[in-house]
Amino acid sequence: MNLSKSSYCRGIQCKKILWLEKHKPEEKEETNNDRILEQGNDIHEVARYLFGSHINIEYRENLPQMIEDTINTIDSYKDVIITEASFNYKNNFCSVDILKKNNNSYEIYEIKSSTELKDIYINDASYQYYVLTSLGLKVTKVSLVHINSNYIRIGDLDLDQLFIKQDITKEIKDLQETVKNNIKEINEYVEKSEEIKDIDENCFKPYPCPFFKYCTKHLPEKNIFDIPRMQTRQKLKLYKKGIYSYEDLLKEEINENTKKILEYELYNKEDYIDKVKIKEFLNTLKEPIYFLDFETYQMPIPLYNNVSPYEQIPFQYSLHYIESNLKHKEFLAQAGTDPRRALAEQLVKDIPKNTTTLAYNMGFEKGVIKRLSKLYPDLSEHLMNIHDNIKDLMIPFQKGYYYTKDMHGSYSIKYVLPALFPDDPSLNYKNLDLIHNGGEAMSSFQDLINKKEEEQKYIRERLLRYCELDTYAMVKIYEKLKEIV
Ligand code: SF4
Repeated sequence: MNLSKSSYCRGIQCKKILWLEKHKPEEKEETNNDRILEQGNDIHEVARYLFGSHINIEYRENLPQMIEDTINTIDSYKDVIITEASFNYKNNFCSVDILKKNNNSYEIYEIKSSTELKDIYINDASYQYYVLTSLGLKVTKVSLVHINSNYIRIGDLDLDQLFIKQDITKEIKDLQETVKNNIKEINEYVEKSEEIKDIDENCFKPYPCPFFKYCTKHLPEKNIFDIPRMQTRQKLKLYKKGIYSYEDLLKEEINENTKKILEYELYNKEDYIDKVKIKEFLNTLKEPIYFLDFETYQMPIPLYNNVSPYEQIPFQYSLHYIESNLKHKEFLAQAGTDPRRALAEQLVKDIPKNTTTLAYNMGFEKGVIKRLSKLYPDLSEHLMNIHDNIKDLMIPFQKGYYYTKDMHGSYSIKYVLPALFPDDPSLNYKNLDLIHNGGEAMSSFQDLINKKEEEQKYIRERLLRYCELDTYAMVKIYEKLKEIV
């Protein structure tokens, strides 16, 4: 078969992925990694400038044309830097992110948007080294270029600080015999008429496999892989012992929490409500309560001063509070601007000092506020006052004071809310238009800058309604807890 860098890496993860892609492509499930791919492309665009001026081999459907363009470029220059230089050796195709030609020797640079070296990157680069050296090119160095998570942007982007170049030549050379064998094995496996592999650790790493549902179709509909907060390693151990169903698992020695989840799933057990504990929790809160939720985005390349790669940048919040009746405030940044100062200023106006603020999974909100307080010393005292008075509405569910079958072992608000209010359409995220979760909010906000005014207005309104539901949901959960006790 024709291999590429990415198909070789998928074959390393599990040969059956390539077998299924060839024989049963319809079984592949959609994965939600478009944004990651886009970020990877952005990184490539920027990292190229680390190497100064370069010649890019334009992407074409016609791969032989890309190879011919590469050969022409190599032949035309004694020293040159080429991006996407493309080669083919016996149906093994690859495009090299950065190829540096120095006289008659070559250096390979593989660019990754990750903040660390991973085994799969070594496999990726080993394959490229194999293709180039098999074609007779003298490759003297292979490096991985990845993001430096300690970098903080001050002023212009400093590419030498933003990226780390890691020499992996030795690891690559040591793997060459393995690459050769892997290619042979992958080809032999893919040509087989039957599938023969069973599931194992590879189904989950380095990437969740899009064929997992297909490969586990022999398991009961509800099976051990659906159990929340159980380590994958433990699930695989059970699987290898032949324990597949919830009923099978209940016969094993398992912790109390898992046992509780299984019993609720299998038998029609009544909701568990510990009124005493819930009351104790409610007594730690002082009304009027402010219900707060942030939306944030992350970028590998810091766009603004005092931002690190992948730092959570808050761009929006929703705030409900009860003052004789329910009131609502909100903030949504202008697209294309650093949102943090305006958001911090608004937040200290909206939340008075010494009041209880409730968040759901408060570590996230506290982290955002703490970073803002470090950034803006003039607002720090008020921000830290809000920070220190935040309480977590997740606690009664996380600690199991309130549990129902419909929570399916999760205490995330996305499970708790429908479990408590199964028939309330105003609390159903599915009824929202356009934006239904944090991931969609993040990508919609980041894309705003590219939209026309009318469309921006439409998307902004949807962002506001999505975030508003997050805090409205918290108000309803809080009221429900009060009602119960
Ligand atoms: S689910 Fe597992 S066994 Fe099936 S193709 Fe994917 S990695 Fe291979």
